[in-house]
Amino acid sequence: MTQSIPRAIIHLDLDAFFCSVEVLKNPELNGKPIAVGGQPDKRGVVAAASYPARKFGIHSAMPMSRAVKLCKDIIIIPPNFKSYKTYSVIVMKLVEKEADLLEQISVDEAFIDVSSRIGNWEDAVEIAKSLQNNIAVNIGLPNSLGVATNKMIAKIASDLNKPNGLTVVKPGEERSFLAPLSPQKISGIGPKMAEKLATMNVTTIRELSKLPLNILEARFGKFGLAMANWAQGKDDRPVRTYREIKSISNERTFPKDISSKEELLMILKQLSEKVVKRLRDKELKAKRVFIKLRYYDFDTHTTQKSFAEAIDSEEMIANIAEELFMFAWSNNKPIRLLGVGVSNFNVDTKSGQTELF
Ligand SMILES: [Mg+2]
Repeated sequence: MTQSIPRAIIHLDLDAFFCSVEVLKNPELNGKPIAVGGQPDKRGVVAAASYPARKFGIHSAMPMSRAVKLCKDIIIIPPNFKSYKTYSVIVMKLVEKEADLLEQISVDEAFIDVSSRIGNWEDAVEIAKSLQNNIAVNIGLPNSLGVATNKMIAKIASDLNKPNGLTVVKPGEERSFLAPLSPQKISGIGPKMAEKLATMNVTTIRELSKLPLNILEARFGKFGLAMANWAQGKDDRPVRTYREIKSISNERTFPKDISSKEELLMILKQLSEKVVKRLRDKELKAKRVFIKLRYYDFDTHTTQKSFAEAIDSEEMIANIAEELFMFAWSNNKPIRLLGVGVSNFNVDTKSGQTELF
């Protein structure tokens, strides 16, 4: 192939997903301020707020006691992760039919590559519209989509006009689309990095794109070069369809949220030991270690590290788990669930990569 045709990537994000599922199960909740999360008298936290609740200033991660003060009629619903998972599977099965490649990145988010299904760009927009309609009408879940030539921009676009949004960034318009936005809109640039950039007078992606490469590299190393690419609207990461990988993992939900580093590291070590024992019992070695952490507000992260050599050393796996944890844990934020796992027993993987999404 001599001509390079731009990719067509859709990012799908279900709107206020936990709340939308609750409305689906009980239509009387429709249009009402609801918050999924823990009880206010038990130091509960809002895991998700419906759009009517957001009008009162209620948002996820807020203490439920505060939500009740902001809206006395708020309807509090305990989380039901089983039914969220069920609906997630239904949505992804529907999406799969329209996708060349489907990469699910969380319970309510996915990248869809439709490049080979389209004759021109408008076809990609049509696929996105039809997906949006199918999920909203046939399943009953409101959703927002971004259509762009790469994952980074599609993800930013889907977030721009929530709920029920459809934002299209045509080929060639990547840079002008990004220019006025905050660097923090880019997945991979977190609040800490945004603060550092702000001290360099960089508060928009346009300003980031104008920083000389040598300065970015001197200050932030390889990550600086990655940021420079992103600011130009470049992102070559493929949409990856994950195989069903066999993994061995162990996780624990705490009766009370924990924010003590010593305690968390001790638990992490115990979890690693159990995982390694099971790994060895099965006479396996792994090429990937991952950790999972869920904060008090149900915000959930997994971080992983892969390497060329398969290992089963208790010390190595425990050390990697600790390293991943220290990388992923933000600012002593209280944790309600911690998990450690290993995978990739017999397949080759790219070495030394930590997932950005
Ligand atoms: Mg969502």
